[in-house]
Amino acid sequence: MKTENNSAILPEEELRLIGKFARKELSQDEIYTFSVILCDNEIDRDNERFTVPALKTLAELFVGKTGIFDHNMSSKDQNARIYATEFVTDESRKTSHGEPYCYIKAKAYMVRTEKNKDLIAEIEAGIKKETSVGCCVRTISCSICGKNIKSEGCEHQKGKVYGGKLCSFLLEDPTDAYEWSFVAVPAQKNAGVIKAFVPSKASAEAERWAEEYREELKASLLRDAGSVMPELKSSLIEDICGALSIGKLREMRDAFRQKAEKNLPLVRQLDCTHDTNEESNSEYKI
Ligand SMILES: [Zn+2]
Repeated sequence: MKTENNSAILPEEELRLIGKFARKELSQDEIYTFSVILCDNEIDRDNERFTVPALKTLAELFVGKTGIFDHNMSSKDQNARIYATEFVTDESRKTSHGEPYCYIKAKAYMVRTEKNKDLIAEIEAGIKKETSVGCCVRTISCSICGKNIKSEGCEHQKGKVYGGKLCSFLLEDPTDAYEWSFVAVPAQKNAGVIKAFVPSKASAEAERWAEEYREELKASLLRDAGSVMPELKSSLIEDICGALSIGKLREMRDAFRQKAEKNLPLVRQLDCTHDTNEESNSEYKI
């Protein structure tokens, strides 16, 4: 990861874009901007990946969305807002499944305050952070047979190899992007993509899918909690989970996950730092 300081003057066009979201007119001095890679088409740790068209749609959906830094510092001074996104293809790099590497690069701004001075210094110093994004997709399909997992199902299991090919689930047709966050964590495979599989319109099916998402969160929380705090009874954790909203459940899952990964750091895979001299903003590699 490479960071550059943000002393350069923002182009008029950027100020105009930021102005669309800011409640009051902001001067150059009041704004801090940086860039972040939100998500990519690499297979994630859940053996799932976004398709290229899905990433293009997500790039549009993320404009205007607020991100927070570290869940335990949720004051509004820790908020940043995305004011522009770009879908980028890096032809010089291939994903593990052989596609050119693609990602969504987002530009975000923060209003400088006394309280976020340290945070900005941290960003400029290049403290590594992981981005995690939350979004909904309408379709998930199998990379081996192409069947729709939700409506048809198939006999393949993600993460298993069939005829030399790794089965992964393809996330397609995003309907909403609802948040992104930055969490300081040790290096790991790639961005923590949080996916909620709900259709755009509220329905009994949406509720069922939300429930499935909740169960997924709970299962991963139980796993991580068990590894970092084996003395906690799983029945107790289940009781706590039952009382939490999906958002809170996710926060708790992230906290335990961070702790678990601190104990057992994973190898950092995506660390290609190409030259970003043409940019005045800092950029996170995830
Ligand atoms: Zn299949």
